[in-house]
Amino acid sequence: MVEHVQVLIVGSGFGGLGTAIALKRDGVDDFVVLERADDLGGTWRDNSYPGCACDVPSHLYSFSFAPNPNWSRTFSRQPEIWAYLRDCADRYGIAPHIRFGTELLGADWDDERRRWVARTSRGEFTADVLVAATGPLAEPSLPDLPGLSTFAGTAFHSARWDHGYDLTGKRVAVIGTGASAIQFVPQIAGRVARLDVYQRTPPWIMPRRDRPLTRVERRVYRAVPALQRLMRAAIYAGREAFLPNFRSVRVSHLAQRIALRHLRSQVPDPDLRAKLTPNYAMGCKRILVSNDYLPALTRDNVHVVTDPIAEVRRHSIVTADGTEREADAIVFGTGFHVTDLPIAERLRGRDGRSLAEIWQGSPQAYLGVAVAGFPNLFLLLGPNTGLGHTSVVIMIEAQIGYLRRALRHLRATGAATVEPRPDAQRDFVRYVDENMRGTVWTAGGCRSWYLDPTGRNSALWPRSTWAYRRLLRRFRPDDHEFSLRAQPKAEVPV
Ligand code: NAP
Repeated sequence: MVEHVQVLIVGSGFGGLGTAIALKRDGVDDFVVLERADDLGGTWRDNSYPGCACDVPSHLYSFSFAPNPNWSRTFSRQPEIWAYLRDCADRYGIAPHIRFGTELLGADWDDERRRWVARTSRGEFTADVLVAATGPLAEPSLPDLPGLSTFAGTAFHSARWDHGYDLTGKRVAVIGTGASAIQFVPQIAGRVARLDVYQRTPPWIMPRRDRPLTRVERRVYRAVPALQRLMRAAIYAGREAFLPNFRSVRVSHLAQRIALRHLRSQVPDPDLRAKLTPNYAMGCKRILVSNDYLPALTRDNVHVVTDPIAEVRRHSIVTADGTEREADAIVFGTGFHVTDLPIAERLRGRDGRSLAEIWQGSPQAYLGVAVAGFPNLFLLLGPNTGLGHTSVVIMIEAQIGYLRRALRHLRATGAATVEPRPDAQRDFVRYVDENMRGTVWTAGGCRSWYLDPTGRNSALWPRSTWAYRRLLRRFRPDDHEFSLRAQPKAEVPV
């Protein structure tokens, strides 16, 4: 049986849940959330590695309409953020709408019937509107290392942590030194026999200003919610004030000095320090915050390996200089498929081509949310809406606001479909590219996951979140194309 819904949402992380809550608040109840896993939470469900935490303060890394006065720390850890999302789903009655264990396999736009036809692992759906809230950090990326398939030990990615495997007393190889690795390396360094950290590029690391929130603070926030809103606003402004560091390579030198001081104070050995000193502008890759990663690397049982990996053997890893290091386990902290999102291959627009075929490796969307030729499709955290300096929940909420205004416009005009005009999409992409010029992301001298295979930064938003919110605040009918309903009597307009 084919089930028809007004809105089909894919994913139940911050984006999917936020959309579901917004629909509920607008009185729309005819929606389903597809979730391939057996619990909600997106990246905050999947990333359960030891030490997983957010590097944006929780007062800001939460929905603006659902503040949580009970955060236990300034920078919350994964279990608490995951619990927050589950609590939001309960509070707003979203759970009954979620179909767990249901993966979207493909969705095609049916132009005759003006609807999406979605194939899932548990049957078919049709929907007036499709919201892809699958997130840019959902698909683990594993390096294509020669011999990896012959490795006889245990190997897993940080986003699929094998909690059934005890690392205690083992010889462990960690590949990658990004945001995830710097959080779990200090957690495991003390209990493994030997830890080889394979570093391709040293990250910039700033001090982490984390502390427990006191009982008094929490009581005050519960009693006077306005104070928490004020704190959120202050954190928001402080984070935006950091943006100039990204806009110009010259300005980023100021922040670099703080990070270099942090490195000097935590790593006394000049040889190790040299290995850990980045040779590109700060911000070019994601800036990391940690107080315990660098000290963990100074332990006697921890070795930072900078020679490239040449080969993996049954029980070891061999580097380009010929050195062979034995390993019982390999943990990949090697990031995610970001610009080659698998979901892009699964969505096909009016002319039958997939997003991936149209994008050709360089994702583009109007406001990062909608794509010409893909009617009634809304992307959350789509191309060019990631951030390097503050909470992506701000972007998600702005995008949900745009979605609501678009749906309201359809209701008001009786139109059945909305999509951006190709020229409006091109103008937006040009605006983004112009604003990207000269920033650390393009002129910082590094290769990062922000850059797609064409060398374009299609991951990040280059300006302030205020500027982004301003752009999305108003729905611009002139930027869009609309079409009327094919079978006006048979259906209820969205
Ligand atoms: P990542 O930042 O992309 O880091 C991947 C690491 O793996 C890099 O050090 C990279 O080296 C290395 N690597 C990739 N392929 C490799 C290969 N073939 N051989 C050797 N090394 C390889 O991934 P992540 O640490 O999982 O973080 C991804 C994103 O998740 C972050 O940027 C952040 O947005 C988010 N995150 C956020 C938090 C948070 O606190 N909010 C925590 C964790 C993650 P190169 O640098 O040389 O490419």
